[in-house]
This record gives sequence, structure tokens and C-alpha cells, in this order.
Amino acid sequence: MPHAGDVRAGARSGPVDPPSVRAVAAPLFTVCFHGVGVPTHEREPGEAGYWVSRDRFLELLDWAVAAPGVALSFDDGNTSDLDVVAPALLERGARATFFPVVGRLGDAWSLSAQGLEELLEAGMDVGTHGLTHRPWAGLRGALAREEVLAPRRALEDLLGRRVDRAAAPLGRYDRHTLALLRSDGCAEVNVSDQRPARPGAWVRPRFSVRADDTAASLRARMLASLAPARRVRNGAVSLVKRAL
Ligand SMILES: [Zn+2]
Repeated sequence: MPHAGDVRAGARSGPVDPPSVRAVAAPLFTVCFHGVGVPTHEREPGEAGYWVSRDRFLELLDWAVAAPGVALSFDDGNTSDLDVVAPALLERGARATFFPVVGRLGDAWSLSAQGLEELLEAGMDVGTHGLTHRPWAGLRGALAREEVLAPRRALEDLLGRRVDRAAAPLGRYDRHTLALLRSDGCAEVNVSDQRPARPGAWVRPRFSVRADDTAASLRARMLASLAPARRVRNGAVSLVKRAL
């Protein structure tokens, strides 16, 4: 089933596709953006290295929208999600999943609950990115529940709808965190391991965009991720290239 993070979800129709083509109907790669524009307030050291300029974002977005194998996600809940990203997505008929840091909602640099509602009304999906952006590795007991599970509930209460997706802050997680999310009924956990996604996989790897990335560098990283793992045969690699 296509999900809201799929760019051009549902675009493929008509006669049944041969199996090899059907294999790329679901996105193979998910891109993870953070802020767009100029970061005015770095929450963590190095955060600015993951912000992209507006022009660079639009270049990357145009490439991603044209690539049927690429899905889009936006982490941290920066105000640029609504000011820059959502209008650009709508102009291109694209959709994405947004993962706000729940404990930051409504502060000067982050989306408000109203902003999240606007994203949902625009056809986007919203998932949880934790309470405070503390990494989801090494957390146990009450602290794990507070950082990982409670913000999912809080978001559901705030939005009056089920929140099925989560994204691990800083891409860090461990078996315990994953087990906790799975037992809580979370349908998808997004991380930042630079790998293609296996169809139907519960843990979804993503490619984080850096400030100096271009469409060419991002595409090159995606293609490079296929080689060492030998996940796909030669024929499938050329298929993947056509999906990027
Ligand atoms: Zn984050």
C-alpha cells in the first residue's frame, strides 16, 4: 500500500507491471531533510551542517520528485517545514512525512500543533521524533518510555489521530528501543543508515541531506550503498538507476 511518504504515490496504474518493475514501485530510498534556509539557532553542535539553502532544497526536491524510487521525509519540526517545504511539495504534487520533536512544538523555531494540522490537511503525514531529541540508544525503563513512547501518545492526543511512524533522533537506536516501539504498535521506524529500503521492512533506512549535497552527490551515495551489500543483481542495479 502506498504511504504518505511516497513521492508520486499511486502514479503507477494500468496493466499489471512485470515483477522487476513492480519491485521499484515502492520507494527504495528515503531522503531525510532537516531545516531549509539559514539556521538561526543551532540546538545541537553541528546541526547547521544538515540545513540546506532554499535554492539547494528546490534543486534536490525537483530531482527527488522526478525519481519514482525516492520518498521524502523532514525531521525536527523546524518552521521551514511549513514556510518553505510544504508549499514547494504542493506545487509539485509531492507528499512527505514530517517528524517533529514533540517537546519543541510551539517554541520560536518549531512548528506549532496548528502547523502540524496544516501539514496533515495538505496531505502530508506526521510522525514522532521523540520528546527532546535525545538519542534512542541506551535508554531503559521510565526514561525510555518518556522519550520514545510518551511523545507518540502526546502527538496522537494533540492531532486526534493515530501516529504510526517514528524517526530516531540523530539516527541512533538499539534493539531495546525497537522492541519498545514494536510492542507499542508503531508501524514504521525511520533511521539514518544509508541503505536502500527492503520492501515492507519495519525499520526504514534513510539518507540524510547535508548542507553541501547536490542531486548528483545524493544520487551517488544511493548508488554506492547498493554495491558493498550486493543486495541487488546487475539487472536490478540498472533498474535502480532508472528509479533515481
Ligand atoms: Zn532530528
